[in-house]
Amino acid sequence: MYAFNYHRPKSLADAAKLLGDASDGKFIAGGQTLLPTLKNRLASPSDLVDLTGIAELSGISVAGSTVSIGAITKHGAVATSAEVKKAIPALSTLAGLIGDPAVRNMGTVGGSVANNDPAADYPSAVLGLNATVHTTKRKIAADSFFTGLFETALADGEIITKIEFPVPKRAGYEKFRNPASRYAMVGVFVAETADGVRVAVTGAGPCVFRHKEMEAALSKSFSVDALKGIKTDPAKMNNDIHGSGEYRAHLVGVVAKRAVQNALG
Ligand SMILES: Cc1cc2nc3c(=O)[nH]c(=O)nc-3n(C[C@H](O)[C@H](O)[C@H](O)COP(=O)(O)OP(=O)(O)OC[C@H]3O[C@@H](n4cnc5c(N)ncnc54)[C@H](O)[C@@H]3O)c2cc1C
Repeated sequence: MYAFNYHRPKSLADAAKLLGDASDGKFIAGGQTLLPTLKNRLASPSDLVDLTGIAELSGISVAGSTVSIGAITKHGAVATSAEVKKAIPALSTLAGLIGDPAVRNMGTVGGSVANNDPAADYPSAVLGLNATVHTTKRKIAADSFFTGLFETALADGEIITKIEFPVPKRAGYEKFRNPASRYAMVGVFVAETADGVRVAVTGAGPCVFRHKEMEAALSKSFSVDALKGIKTDPAKMNNDIHGSGEYRAHLVGVVAKRAVQNALG
């Protein structure tokens, strides 16, 4: 690891100023992605601005039909929240499937969504539930947020403050884990929302994506059988040491059916 300056501000304004003043600064939250990156000397920021001292970024609340989760809320807190479990059980299931207890006790929702790892779990819930990402500058709809491999709509210095998840009529998540890392080889989040059925797939391609054919079929009949015969293009899937494009395309179908089954209860 290279040397860097460390800051732990108490307010969003101070965090933004510290980052702006740094020659090459970075925000850090749970450090579950950033710290390994630094340890492997794949990045050498001049300054780390730790967001975990900013109280207003923490916490879970449910008001009416919206679940609001502060950016520095840990995966473990989401997984064990009785409020989340009641309002969106699939979201608490998803959080409980992330990594291992150490990762869940350090990693944060905002860090995961900002990082947009192609195999991360949360992006599928954000996209599948049509959530809204709140930042220090604006509100970003899920459909516009994830723009590519490790890429998002966030501008330099923009901080995710919270994510608002609309409560769906029903939803289900299923994940086929990479046995070594526990990240998703394929994860599918299915939700019947006020705006129709949404199906978000993570792990399979370079970036989380909506499976429009599955959405159309499930809109006609929200059942496992509705997905029979729907194919996913292997050419658009990741093809790497963990699995071929054909394997992942096949898994999308299998995992999606299990996600629908989970939603049906
Ligand atoms: C062994 C291991 C297994 C894992 N398994 C899984 C898994 O199964 N599923 C899964 O989804 N993830 C998994 N993860 C990743 C984990 O979920 C991390 O928590 C997540 O990737 C990053 O969150 P963080 O809070 O640790 O962010 P950090 O590592 O602190 O930051 C990540 C990036 O996000 C930026 N950032 C952080 N917070 C904000 C914010 N509020 N606004 C703007 N930018 C911000 C940082 O600048 C940095 O670029 C695993 C990690 C490890 C080490």
